[in-house]
Amino acid sequence: MNSKKKKVVVVGLGVYGSAVASQLALMGADVIGIDQFEPPHSHGSSHGGTRITRIANFEGGRYVETALRTIEIYKWMQQQGFSDRPLFQSNGVLLYGPRGDILEATHGVTNPIKGTIDVARKFNVAHEVLSGADIQARFPGFNLSDAEALDTMGYFEKDSGTLFPERCVEAQLKLARQCGAQLLMNTRVADVSDTGSQKVVMLANGTTIEADEVVVCAGPWVRDFVPEELRQHFKVERHVFGWFQSQDPAAFHIDNHPNFARFFRMPDGSVDFFYGFPNGHEVVKVAKEQGKPVDVNDPMRLTVDDTEVQALFNTVAPHIKGLTGKIVTRASCVYTVTPDHQFLIGEHPDMQGVHIVSACSGHGFKHAAALGERLAQEIMGQRTRGSLNADYGWKARGIGAP
Ligand SMILES: Cc1cc2nc3c(=O)[nH]c(=O)nc-3n(C[C@H](O)[C@H](O)[C@H](O)COP(=O)(O)OP(=O)(O)OC[C@H]3O[C@@H](n4cnc5c(N)ncnc54)[C@H](O)[C@@H]3O)c2cc1C
Repeated sequence: MNSKKKKVVVVGLGVYGSAVASQLALMGADVIGIDQFEPPHSHGSSHGGTRITRIANFEGGRYVETALRTIEIYKWMQQQGFSDRPLFQSNGVLLYGPRGDILEATHGVTNPIKGTIDVARKFNVAHEVLSGADIQARFPGFNLSDAEALDTMGYFEKDSGTLFPERCVEAQLKLARQCGAQLLMNTRVADVSDTGSQKVVMLANGTTIEADEVVVCAGPWVRDFVPEELRQHFKVERHVFGWFQSQDPAAFHIDNHPNFARFFRMPDGSVDFFYGFPNGHEVVKVAKEQGKPVDVNDPMRLTVDDTEVQALFNTVAPHIKGLTGKIVTRASCVYTVTPDHQFLIGEHPDMQGVHIVSACSGHGFKHAAALGERLAQEIMGQRTRGSLNADYGWKARGIGAP
């Protein structure tokens, strides 16, 4: 019997890389995880204190299973002591906005509220459909006039809520280490190649590491690892978060208020949106999805200037009661967008056994632990049904179609 452990190198240890590395190590693989920084850090996609999780995803019914499994995995990690602070809090999520059709796409999809309701009904996800009056009564922190309430509907899901990104990454790295994974921080990978019998990972200092398989979870740096002709399909966008003081600390406390996505009509009839989190103190964290294309290696992208936060405040303030202009803090974050805003998880077109994971497009965090587990199961030969390649690979995405 061959008792040699399968050796897997994981490039990038954000939420996806740390999920894959921890699950592979748990399943008995010989794992080397490598990151150019020291995660959790604020250079990539997995930071900013909070992420929304939704169980019914308007982005597609297939995400219900992975959203649920991710929550389960983080609850297990919590119980096992991999974090002494919560990784998940079920404060719920509310999507609300105009009753009519919303034709402007969010994550590539129109009608996000109705789409969410359809998915929730199809997959039996517990939820409530709320009227504008219900929302006024239950969530008085929102500024919804009586006239506006008449044209408003909402979707409320009580079992979802908040994931804490830095804590989730830390817990996954702790699990990986505890299961024997070797983690190389502040170490940049310059290249991944295939000799036929082995994959070779070359570090920026010229050192090479051989492996049976390689998983590349480079987040917004994914383009460095895909064939040149396919790079154009991965766009990197920069987004800004603002944390604002609220005059009413009780109204937006994470223990009694859901995360929210607010869709609202503009004077020209089009629909815009922003999303937010009660932050636990007297602060509300908000963001808009108006990402601008950016060079991921430009250090200036990390700086958020006053004009950007002021623009965010101007959009959000009319919709939230008691939000003061006092900026508590600010941050920027980048994510990778594919043409159809879905995930790309598949074998490298030219190298069998090299897996590319670009699970982002702004909605990937809530599925990371589950998709990481699934990829680890496939690599370790522990999964008999389905394949990530078929579901999320190049052909499925219509990218390159090798
Ligand atoms: C503003 C914003 C809001 C979001 N909101 C939500 C939300 O509410 N809900 C949700 O589900 N999702 C959300 N997302 C998406 C989610 O956060 C991302 O899908 C997820 O964090 C992607 O993680 P990742 O591991 O792919 O990338 P990252 O966290 O960026 O990790 C990639 C890692 O690879 C490393 N790396 C790259 N190149 C190399 C190299 N050559 N050598 C060594 N290491 C390398 C990097 O240093 C980095 O640590 C949001 C994203 C952003 C930016």
